[in-house]
Amino acid sequence: MFFLVGAQTYSHELGFYKKEGTCPGCGRTINLGIARYSAWLTVFFVPCIPLSIKYYKYCPDCGISAQITRKEAKSLLGQ
Ligand SMILES: [Zn+2]
Repeated sequence: MFFLVGAQTYSHELGFYKKEGTCPGCGRTINLGIARYSAWLTVFFVPCIPLSIKYYKYCPDCGISAQITRKEAKSLLGQ
C-alpha cells in the first residue's frame, strides 16, 4: 500500500479596491487588486490540509505586489 503525497499552491483573485490608489511601482492611479495564495498538502492530488494562506495586494498593470493580512484584505474589499 502506498500514498501519493505532495504539495500544491493555488491563487485566487478576490477582487479590487473600492477606491483608486497610486501604484508604488508604476505610479499610475488604478484600482489595485487583492489575491489569496494558499499552499495545500495533497494526498492523491486532492488538497487535504492547508499549509499556508497569504493575502497580497497587487497592481494589475505592472504586477508589483505586497503581502497584507487577512483582516486588511477584508477591509479593503469592503466585507
Ligand atoms: Zn503598477
